[in-house]
Order: sequence, then structure tokens, then C-alpha cells
Amino acid sequence: MTDLFAPLQSLKQGNWFKLICGASFQHLPAVRSLTLAYTLAGADCIDVAADPAVIAAAQAGLQIAKSLASDAQKRGFEYKGNSPFLMVSLNDGEDPHFRKAEFAPTKCPTDCPRPCERICPAQAIVFNSIKEDFSGVISEKCYGCGRCIPICPHNRISTSSYASTSGAIAPLVMSTGVDAVEIHTKVGRLAEFEKLWQAISPWADQLKLLAISCPDGEGMTDYLKALHKLIVPFKSALIWQTDGRPMSGDIGDGTTIASVKLGQKVLAAKLPGYVQVSRWHK
Ligand code: SF4
Ligand code: SF4
Repeated sequence: MTDLFAPLQSLKQGNWFKLICGASFQHLPAVRSLTLAYTLAGADCIDVAADPAVIAAAQAGLQIAKSLASDAQKRGFEYKGNSPFLMVSLNDGEDPHFRKAEFAPTKCPTDCPRPCERICPAQAIVFNSIKEDFSGVISEKCYGCGRCIPICPHNRISTSSYASTSGAIAPLVMSTGVDAVEIHTKVGRLAEFEKLWQAISPWADQLKLLAISCPDGEGMTDYLKALHKLIVPFKSALIWQTDGRPMSGDIGDGTTIASVKLGQKVLAAKLPGYVQVSRWHK
């Protein structure tokens, strides 16, 4: 379970495969279980939503896989686990949504033992904080993990969805230590891409991989070349992902052919890096 370079080897050998959990998939137990199952199955990359709670769930799945593989090895099984890259997807043209917990502390029964306060891993729930004379959820600290919601015996805690710009969220996401980023862009969004890349670039040295996903469009080859100029001198592995059609919900006939055709077009552009054909599995 220590072969940190296995994902890069897979890229070189052309047998790289990744699990795409989905940029808006935020079911935390499912993300953890899928990460665990696909890691044990030898996936090279786990691609999750750019949400700190989702990233934490995937990291928990990776940790369990690591200890299971280590146990198997100690018992003499010839199991050689993988260490997939943990990747997040960011979109240069949409504002991602995040949830935050909230409740009105004045409505809590005075004799409640406050299990919410103890369970919060981010110390975001406080009562009569001396420093700020505040009770409730400190919004800036809450990362929406949801642990406090079922533990409240009086169902007092709910969540609200907040929009944030990708540029604003990038530092929060990058500081979790993810290995890889996939940026979704479109022809003509150079300024938006540049803004997002500027927000990510302080962490560029920590990244083992950058993937850029762009659907086909007029002037696509020139657009991808302009993107490449922007990210130079990025030193780690680079993937151009070809989604023949948008990935969300489109599983109709012909999507594979569209992806392959786009892959051929990107290959013909001879951009530095790898080309990955992205497909749904029905
Ligand atoms: S959702 Fe998670 S981080 Fe936010 S207050 Fe509840 S337990 Fe804390
Ligand atoms: S557990 Fe529920 S009722 Fe009790 S203090 Fe927390 S939010 Fe209030």
C-alpha cells in the first residue's frame, strides 16, 4: 500500500482509471464507501466534489483501505494495494454550493446536555463563548459535515446552502491536502480560468496532477493551447479530459463516440500531457 507512484505509472502505461463520484455528489457515507471499494479495487484516482466535508469522507475511506491492506499483508496475503490520487473538481464558470449547519440556541431546552457541541469536529458549535459572547454555529468554522444534525435529540439543527465562487473556495479546498485538481472549462472562458488558476497556483507545487476538462467547440484547440500557456511552468502530470458531451445525466447512445472523436482531436493538437477519454459506465 505504499506505491505512491502507481497512479503515474498507470498513466504512462495507458491503463489509468479513476472513480468519478461527481462534482455535486455529497452523500458522505457513500463517498467514503465508494472510495474504500475502488481503492481496494486498484483505482488510480478518486475524483470528488470540492467540498471539505466530502474530501474528509474520501480521506476516511482511503485511510480504512490503507489499514485493511496493511492487515492483509501482515497475514501473509499477497495483496499490493494502491494509493490513488485524491482529486477535486472545480468549475471556472459556476458557483459551487456548500451547506452550513444552523440552529437558534435560545430555543434549546436548558437541560440539554449539548451533544452537538461535543460531536462537532471543527469546534464550530459554541455556547456562551467568552471571547465573542456568542452561542450557536460559528458559520466560518462549519464545513457542513452533518454530524451534529442526527445527534440533536430535539431536531433543532438544520442546514442552509450557500454559494461561493470557485476562486474563493479554492484555498479552503487546496489546504485539505488534495493531490490533484480537475478544472472544468469551456472555449472562451480564458479570463475565468485564469482567475481560478491564480487562486490554485499557491498550491501548484503540492499537486501531483492537473486535469483540464473542456467540451468541443469552435476554436477549441487554440483555447487549450492558451490554457497551457497560462499554467506553464506547471511541473506535474497534466491530463486533457475529453467529455464528448456533458457528464451530468447524459447517458444516451453516441456519447462514447463523441468522447473518442474529441480525444482524437485533442491528440492531434499535440499538447503536452495525457489525453483521457471520459465515459459513463452503465
Ligand atoms: S455540520 Fe459538522 S462542522 Fe458544521 S456545526 Fe455541525 S458538526 Fe460542526
Ligand atoms: S443538541 Fe440540539 S437541543 Fe441540544 S444544545 Fe445542541 S442544538 Fe440545542
